[in-house]
Amino acid sequence: MNLYWHRRDLRGTDNRGLARAVSVSEGPVAPVFVFDPTVLEHAAPVRVACLLEALEGLRAWYRERGSDLLVVRGEASDAIPRLAAEYEADAVVWADDYSGLARERDRAVTAALEDDGVACESVHDSIHHEPGSITPNEGAHYSVFSYFWKKWRDREKREPLEPPAADALADVAGDPLPSRSELGFDKPTATPQSVTQAAARERTTEFCSGPIYRYADNRDKPAVDGTSRLSVHLKWGTIGIRKVYAATQRAAERATTDDDRESVAAFQRQLAWREFYAHVLAFNPETVTENFSGYEHPIPWRNDPDELAAWKAGETGYPIVDAGMRQLQAEGWIHNRVRMLVASFLTKDLLIDWREGYDWFRRNLADHETANDVGGWQWAGSTGTDAQPYFRVFNPMKQGREYDPDADYIREYIPELEGVPADAIHDWHDLDPDRRAQLAPSYPAPIVDHGERREGAIAAFEQARGE
Ligand SMILES: Cc1cc2nc3c(=O)[nH]c(=O)nc-3n(C[C@H](O)[C@H](O)[C@H](O)COP(=O)(O)OP(=O)(O)OC[C@H]3O[C@@H](n4cnc5c(N)ncnc54)[C@H](O)[C@@H]3O)c2cc1C
Repeated sequence: MNLYWHRRDLRGTDNRGLARAVSVSEGPVAPVFVFDPTVLEHAAPVRVACLLEALEGLRAWYRERGSDLLVVRGEASDAIPRLAAEYEADAVVWADDYSGLARERDRAVTAALEDDGVACESVHDSIHHEPGSITPNEGAHYSVFSYFWKKWRDREKREPLEPPAADALADVAGDPLPSRSELGFDKPTATPQSVTQAAARERTTEFCSGPIYRYADNRDKPAVDGTSRLSVHLKWGTIGIRKVYAATQRAAERATTDDDRESVAAFQRQLAWREFYAHVLAFNPETVTENFSGYEHPIPWRNDPDELAAWKAGETGYPIVDAGMRQLQAEGWIHNRVRMLVASFLTKDLLIDWREGYDWFRRNLADHETANDVGGWQWAGSTGTDAQPYFRVFNPMKQGREYDPDADYIREYIPELEGVPADAIHDWHDLDPDRRAQLAPSYPAPIVDHGERREGAIAAFEQARGE
C-alpha cells in the first residue's frame, strides 16, 4: 500500500500526485491529510473555514468511491511516518509546495521516512512549469514577467488527468475532521465563496463559456463580475491547473473573433503571473520578509499606527481604498485592481512598510497564496521583481473615477455613501468639509492629502536610492 498525502491539492481529479501514488503502488492507495500545528500557526479563521469545507468535499469524494480520507493531527514529520508504519506503507507520495516553510517541513518528513526505510516521492502539480524549467540565459529564474510570459505561453502544457479508479483506493475509515474551534480558530468575520471541487468546476465552466471573452475589457472593473474568481480554488487545489488551462484552450478554439482570442490570452497571461511568482519565491524564499530589490539605504517608512488602523478598517476617507478594505472584511477577497490600489495607498500615501500590508492580507484573504501575496505587495511597494517604479503612485480619486465610474462598487461596500452622487464620491478629497458632512456625515474626511503624500513618498524612495 502507498499513502497519498494531500496538502494544497484538495481534489481527486487532475491530481498528478495522487495519480503517481496509484501508478507506483502495488496495492490500493490510502489518502491522508495532516493538521500540522506549525502550518496552522500561519493560518487564519477565514482560511481554516475554507480548508474544512474543501476537506469535507474531498472526504465525500473518497467515500463515494468506497475509500476515506485519513485525518491526523500533529507535526507532519511525526504524523506521516506514524501512519506509514500503521498502514505498512511502502511509499508516501505528495505534490510539491514551493514556499520556504513547506519545503522545510517536507525535508523533515523525507528524513523521517528515510530513517524508517519508507520510500517517498514528490511531484510537481500546482503549476504547469516547475521552478527551474523556464529560465533566462543566466540565472535561475526570470525577474521580468514579459520574458517569462513569452516562454510560458509557447511551452507545451500537460493534459488534465482522470481520477483514479475506485478500486485503486484503499478501503479505510478516517476519524472525523476536527472543528474550527478544536483547531483554535474563531469564527471568521468574512463569508468567503464556497471552496469545493464542484464549485470550482462550475465556476470554470461558466467563466470559460462567456465571461472569458469579455475578460480583457472587464477585468479592471470591480463592480462587474468579470474575473474568474478561481484564486481561492487554485489556492486550495479544488481544481487542477491543467483542467483550468484546458478549459481556456477550448474557449480559444470556440472564439470567433480576434478580440475573443485576445481576451482568452489575457486571462492565460494572469495564470502565468501565478507561475512567475511561484518561481520567484522558490528561488528566493527569504522574500517573504525581505525586499527582493535592494535600495542603497533602508526605505524611511513612516509606519504611523493610527493610519495603519484606518487603512485596515476601511476608514481612510478615500472611497475606493475603503471599499476594497471592507470587501476584504466581508468576503476574504478583493478585486485585483483594488488590491493594487489599497497596496499602493498603504506603501506610498501612508508610507507604511509593505510587510504590514502583507501581514493583514495574510490574516484575511481566503485565497492567500504566499508567492502571489508577497509578489503583489513587493510590486506595489516598488521593492519586487518587475515592480511598479517608485515614482509611479496611483491616484485613488482618478482610479476610482476610471474603473468604478458610477461608484457602484464603492457604494456596495460603504453604506455611508448610499445615495451620494458618483461625482461627489470621486471628488470626496476636494469637497468642502461642510459639503462632506451634509452628504455623508458618518463617512470620514481623507486622513491624508494625496498630493502631498505622493511627493513625500517619492522623496523617501529617492533618499533610499541615495539620490
Ligand atoms: C497586493 C496584492 C496581493 C495579492 N495577493 C494574492 C494572493 O494572496 N493570492 C492570489 O491568488 N492572488 C493574489 N494577488 C493577485 C490577484 O489580485 C488575485 O489573484 C486575483 O484578484 C484573484 O481573483 P480572480 O481569481 O478572479 O483573478 P483572475 O483575474 O480571474 O485571474 C485568474 C488567476 O490568475 C492568477 N492571477 C491573477 N492575477 C495575478 C497576479 N497579479 N499575480 C499572481 N497571480 C495572479 C490567480 O491565480 C487568479 O485566480 C494579489 C495582488 C496584489 C496586488
